[in-house]
Amino acid sequence: MISNHSSNRRGFRKVRRNRDWGFCATTGKVRYGEMIDAKKALESAFHQRAAARLAGITSSNQVVRAYRCDDCRGYHTTSIPHAAYTSRRESLALV
Ligand SMILES: [Zn+2]
Repeated sequence: MISNHSSNRRGFRKVRRNRDWGFCATTGKVRYGEMIDAKKALESAFHQRAAARLAGITSSNQVVRAYRCDDCRGYHTTSIPHAAYTSRRESLALV
């Protein structure tokens, strides 16, 4: 049912949808379908914060980690560092 892989088939649209996962009913957060999407969101948050720092302001985008949500089976980002708990799961997910 869920197919997010780009296809090599001729004529098949290779557009990869990044923001089409909706929201999590449990947390109300934006869902990311894959860890890579959540990681990209984290990365852009890092860049936003760096740019904000240079501008002398504080970015409201404080997310620092991504985690797998058991409720919606997607991924979310959070500003709460919980490294001891997630680092293992994340490294598992990234293997
Ligand atoms: Zn969720």
